This record gives sequence, C-alpha cells and structure tokens, in this order.
Amino acid sequence: MADIIQLLPDHVANQIAAGEVVQRPASVVKELLENAIDAGSSEVMLIVKDAGKTLVQVVDNGKGMSTTDARLSFSRHATSKIKMAEDLFQLHTKGFRGEALASIGAIAHVEMVTSDEEDQIGTEIRMEGGKIVSQEVTTCQRGTSIAVKNLFYNIPARRNFLKSNQVELRHIIDEFQRVALAHPGVGFDFYNNGSELFKLPATNIRQRIVHVFGPKTNEKLVPVEEETGVVKVSGFVCKPEFAKKTRGEQFFFVNDRFIKNSYLHHAVTSAFEGLIKDQTHPSYFLFLDVDPSSIDINIHPTKTEIKFDDEHTLYAILRSAVKHSLGQFNVAPILDFDRDSNLDTPYNYEGRSASMPAIEVDVNFNPFEKEPAKEKMSFSRSSRKPSGSWEQLYVGLEKSNDFSAIELESEEVTGSLFEKENEVSEATTYQLHKKYIVTTIKSGMVIIDQQRAHQRVLYEEYLKNITVQKGVSQQLLFPLNLNFSSVDIQLLSEMKDSLENTGFVFESFEKDTVVIIGIPINISESEVAIVLDQLLSDFQNEIPDSNFSQADMLAKTMCKTLAVRTGEVLNKASQEALVNNLFATKDPSVSPFHKPIYITMTVEEIDKRFL
Ligand code: ADP
Ligand code: MG
Repeated sequence: MADIIQLLPDHVANQIAAGEVVQRPASVVKELLENAIDAGSSEVMLIVKDAGKTLVQVVDNGKGMSTTDARLSFSRHATSKIKMAEDLFQLHTKGFRGEALASIGAIAHVEMVTSDEEDQIGTEIRMEGGKIVSQEVTTCQRGTSIAVKNLFYNIPARRNFLKSNQVELRHIIDEFQRVALAHPGVGFDFYNNGSELFKLPATNIRQRIVHVFGPKTNEKLVPVEEETGVVKVSGFVCKPEFAKKTRGEQFFFVNDRFIKNSYLHHAVTSAFEGLIKDQTHPSYFLFLDVDPSSIDINIHPTKTEIKFDDEHTLYAILRSAVKHSLGQFNVAPILDFDRDSNLDTPYNYEGRSASMPAIEVDVNFNPFEKEPAKEKMSFSRSSRKPSGSWEQLYVGLEKSNDFSAIELESEEVTGSLFEKENEVSEATTYQLHKKYIVTTIKSGMVIIDQQRAHQRVLYEEYLKNITVQKGVSQQLLFPLNLNFSSVDIQLLSEMKDSLENTGFVFESFEKDTVVIIGIPINISESEVAIVLDQLLSDFQNEIPDSNFSQADMLAKTMCKTLAVRTGEVLNKASQEALVNNLFATKDPSVSPFHKPIYITMTVEEIDKRFL
C-alpha cells in the first residue's frame, strides 16, 4: 500500500489551531486586551464595529515591540513571556503560549502598528490569512495598536456560525468587564460602533466596580479582606438584600486573572446561607492572590478553569472571610424573610385582566384641584379599591364567564364543564394554603397553582401587547429617573420598542439614566425598577436572538415579576377571575416556564380513595 500520511500545509494547520483560540470576536478582544496589559500599559482603548465582526482594535501605550519582534510576534509559539518550562510555575503574565497573534493572523486581516521607542519611529505590519503582506516604517507613539478586521473572512463556515450582533457584543462586554475589573489601575475606553460604551479611569477596585456596573452599586458593596499564609483574599461581596433572582455579577480573579470555579463559588454562596432567599444569588467580586506555583495555569488559553493545590483550605478561608465581612458590617440582622403577606398590596385582579381594554381616564383631571378625582385617575395597584360587587368590575369580560365555551381537556366533556348552578356563586372557588385555587368542575375538581396560572394569563396579555402593540399606558405625574450602567442603558434602548408596546413611555435615554414618563396600566410605579432590573438580568443570562424571542422574553420577565405569588391571599373575586381568565388563555395547562398549572381529580378518583 502506498504511503498516505501527509503533513498539513502550514496555513491549514494554523487555521485549525486558530479555531481553538478564536471562537468568536470576544476571544480576539480577550487576547488583545491581555497582551496590552502584559505590555505594561496604563491606558487601553478598545474599538469594536459590528460586534467585532468587522473590526476589533486595541490601542495601548505599553512597551511596544521592536521591528523584529513585531514580525516574530505572529509566529506560532512566539512569546516573550516564558523561556523555559520552569517559568510556567512563576507566571505573572496572562499570555505565555505565543499562540494568540499567530491564530488571529491566520483567520483575519490584521494591521499592527507598534513602537518601542520614544522617538516615534515604529513598524507597521499588515497580515492576511497568516502571511505578512506588507511591512513599513512609520511614525507613532510608543505602544501598540492591533486592528483585526473581517474575522473568519477565509473560513465562511465559522463566520456564518457567529450569532447576532447583540449576542456577540454581549460576549465582548463580558470579556472586557473581566479584564477591566482585574486591572482597576489601568484606564480603559471602549467604543462600540463609534459610541462610547465605557470610559473607565484608572482608580481603585471599588470605584472600578461602580464605574462598570453603575452608581447604585456602591451602596451594595461590603468589603472582604483576609490574609493568610496560603492566600490573600480581597474584594467585595454584595449585601444579601441585593441578591439577584438570576445569577448576578460573580467574579473570581486569581492573581488578576478571571476564573470560574464552582467549588469556590459554593464557598461564597454557603457564607450567605440563611441570609438570602432560596434561588437567589449573591454578587461578588473577589480577588485571590496565591503563590503562582500553587496553581496549575497550564490550561487552555480560552478556558477559565484553574486547578489549586489545596482547594479545601481555600474553601474554608474564603467562606469564613465572607462570613466575617457580612457579620462585621452587620448586614445580617436587618433581613426579614417572614414578612407578613397581609401587609403587601392586595392583589386586585381587575386591573390586570387579559382583555380589559376600556380604561377610564378623566381628561378633565387637574392635579392641582382641591379634590382630585382619585378613583378615576389612579391605576396603580395600591390605590385600586373594589367598588361594590366584583362582577361590576368585569365589564367586557362576560364572555369568559361562559364556562361552557371552555374545553379543559380532550376528555368527553358533554355540555358544561363547570357545575351550572355554581357558575357565579362565591362558593365555586377556595384558596388553599395561599397557594392553590380549588374549584369544582363537572367531573370532579381542579386544583390550580395561583402563581403559575397568573403567569400564564399575564404572559399572553403582554405578548399580545408587544406583538400587536396596544398596551395601554398611564402617564406619570412626575417623570421617573432610573440609574443604570451604560451597558444596561444600551440594552434597554435596544428593547425600547417592545417596552413601549407594553405601555412604557420613555422620555430619554441618557448616559446612565433613563427617564420614564409613562408605565403600563397594570404595574405600579414602585414595580418599574424591579421589572427593568429583572429584565436586564434575564437578558444577561440569555440573549434573545430574534425579535420574537425578545418579545417572548420580555413577556416572560414581566409576567414572572408581576404575577401574584404563592403566599398572597386572594379574595373570592380575584380567585374567580383568575380561574376564568386562565381558561380563556391559549394554553391553560402549562405556565410560560413549562410547569403544570393545574391538576384535576375526578369524583371516581376521589371515590377510590375512600374504598
Ligand atoms: P503570548 O501573549 O502568549 O506571549 P501572543 O501571541 O499573544 O502570545 O503574543 C506574542 C508576543 O507578542 C508576546 O509575547 C509579546 O511579546 C508580543 N506582543 C503582543 N501584543 C503586544 C502588545 N500589545 N504590546 C507589546 N508586545 C506585544
Ligand atoms: Mg497573548
């Protein structure tokens, strides 16, 4: 048999290797930023166009490269950071494999301008598909600028694989934030499509966190400080009351390198045990300094995992350090989980019905009149009062009282599903343990999870509003100014249209503030910030790829935040309305989060239990 093994040509081998280092524009951002830090820069600028698909450029004022080094830097295994294998155990730099520039050069158009001298003489190199196509002498400041254009231009399959700009930009922001948080002493500037997304002056870590995540972060931070022979722990955790329902901002840095480690994550969350509610997550920004020889950094460049020599000790130290801080700053006792749900705003179903377009607005209302027409103008939950019989509140809803029109399941339902004689009488529903609504149906009974049922009702209502655009809005007497980080502002402005369809009216989006002058009729002013915060954290966890999924996610966030919860007392009218409206939805059986909403029990089944 003839010999069949061949060596792959260099450019093919490089492209394959590049795929491991560069998965998406964000990988380029990470590598270039880390090189800039390794070069000792004090100011770093990141410029991105089309979420990095067209351009990722990093300009630094670091030590620069000589002409020879500039050429060499694009070769595989070309690094200035280690010389011997032993150096691996004393690493203080981010890079060391000498792979990044070679990989990026193989799959993009790269322009590098660099100078290591004060006399402004430098080198300009252009690289295409792994080959240097030009090299010139140029004038430039000391430092390096590397522009990576048309990523994956020669690997269409990879290019097509990239996600929407929104998704790719989110990845870039994540990488940027990690590097920026790890190096508060370095100033960073980040421009996206010509507009400034971040301007982070060199400062301390606390201010850096605040600059990255917005001014309201400051009051949430509790410092953590601990020094032992094994590790120095510093940084901040967020006060327990600010724990988020979705994974918040959770950052570990080991020797200024962002890492993920579920074991250490557990150490931190366990320190919060008993202080935060189930299913909420504390935010933290923790820096561990360890002896470089005690960690195995010989990991893949794109991976963020890391192995420690003595994880158990680290776990214990970290946990007690966080506990100590929480105790010292006395943040524990102010929490009160057993809040009396009776003190909560009562849930008034009438304002939230899925099909109540008629809103009475008193056009003659004058807020400066002596006796404002209170009942008429205020739609906020707290001010709504049942006025007489609940049935009066349901003008326009008669249809859903017609139980016979509802098909609950495909079982042989003949005639009316619900007992006729009980149709509107108050005895038809019963609330069990502030959690379930029990009601009779012809074949027996149905037990409905109140929270999930209401989520379904609201979800369909919002989705309809967003997609067919007719959410009704209530004007605010005084505009609501809410502070957000610049990234959050950007996200919100991308969702502006959808949000307006639900009834929000935005007056302006400024650098770190949004001004809201109208809100959907069925939410109260105090709920606005909660809804928007939830929305932002949902978007951070899962960025929708299309307009529909954006609408879907928005509807989900709103129904999740605004639905009545387990533990809330519902009066009879609300119970009945909830049942009616649930069975008027498209899919009464499952919640928007794929959980069952109700179970039925037939008389036969009940009979059997009595045998
Ligand atoms: P690594 O960072 O693993 O050494 P890279 O491929 O990222 O490998 O970079 C190769 C070399 O190019 C680096 O070791 C460094 O000497 C040089 N280099 C890259 N970027 C810069 C920069 N922004 N400033 C100065 N030198 C740089
Ligand atoms: Mg590098």
